[in-house]
Amino acid sequence: MGDPFFSVDRLQTHFPIRRGVLRRVVGAVQAVDGVSFGIERGETLGLVGESGCGKTTVGRSLLRLVEPTGGRVTLGGVDVRQVSGRQLRTLRRRMQVVFQDPYGSLNPRMTVRGILEEGLIVHRMGTAAERIERMQRALERTGMPADALRRYPHEFSGGQRQRIAIARALVLEPEFLVLDEPVSALDVSIQAQVVNLLVDLRKDLGLTYLFISHDLSVVEYLSDRVAVMYLGRFVETATAAKLYAAPLHPYTQALFSAVPSVDPERRRSRIILPGDVPSPSRPPSGCRFHPRCPLAETVCREVDPPEVAVEGHRVHCHVAARELDQAGGDTAAASQRIAELMTAASPSSRAAAAGSV
Ligand code: SF4
Repeated sequence: MGDPFFSVDRLQTHFPIRRGVLRRVVGAVQAVDGVSFGIERGETLGLVGESGCGKTTVGRSLLRLVEPTGGRVTLGGVDVRQVSGRQLRTLRRRMQVVFQDPYGSLNPRMTVRGILEEGLIVHRMGTAAERIERMQRALERTGMPADALRRYPHEFSGGQRQRIAIARALVLEPEFLVLDEPVSALDVSIQAQVVNLLVDLRKDLGLTYLFISHDLSVVEYLSDRVAVMYLGRFVETATAAKLYAAPLHPYTQALFSAVPSVDPERRRSRIILPGDVPSPSRPPSGCRFHPRCPLAETVCREVDPPEVAVEGHRVHCHVAARELDQAGGDTAAASQRIAELMTAASPSSRAAAAGSV
């Protein structure tokens, strides 16, 4: 099999910590530290994790809105980190981003026409008449009236503004979209409409998405595959169906245990993790999750767990590797066993079946 459409190999984005009058570099915030993945054309990869785990920095690094400090990123064979000038401009048109906050991301002093046309002018796309046509088409695709072009962002609701932000990305005819918490700031009733719009656009235009969110239900609905991130690293990746049915990593199990479910098959004991996420400027030794993991063993403090993969389900965990081995590669059985170990080892776990959320 050839390279995926979008390929990321050991991506690293560290931010220097400077101190003193001379602003000497005394350390680094390891926001993203050696992340590798691929996304096939037309696929959606969901990215989940607690705030501060590095998900947004991954998205921004791919688009070079922040400069990565290491690793390789390619889109359709083009090395994103090596291009500059005109080539970079072309690449930027092919890769667009939609941010969380539809209030902050649209300039309130510009009309919708000004907001949408800016990118077309920068990328020298079309004559004035062609640009109008493109903008009207993009608005129509996102369910906005064509006369929106004459109006200002404050004249629209939060959901409509997010549609305008999506139209701004679409007008440039991109192939790849980073969607960074695109529905988190919207009312629940509006979220479903915008999520369905994103699903339709992906199908109709053949778009490829990286969908970043802390909302596990939305991620499951929208994603083909899901990656779980903790402290700058991916700890588990699988198809959405496999990950949600049989999470293997203790961190994923804890995340999922916090999601209430009406389905008794999916109801899990609630695992409450002790402590906070450690600082990414001084990540723990060995497995980065070990200070909070109810299953941590001596080896976890000393050895960074290598990746173990079973039919595309990838996990970095010593205990998961052992349980998978003992279960003969049966991920469902291993997941069940890890859930039992977690419940037994976690003093604060409570039975969801007893009604706790
Ligand atoms: Fe927990 Fe050890 Fe697995 Fe890390 S490697 S998640 S500390 S069991």
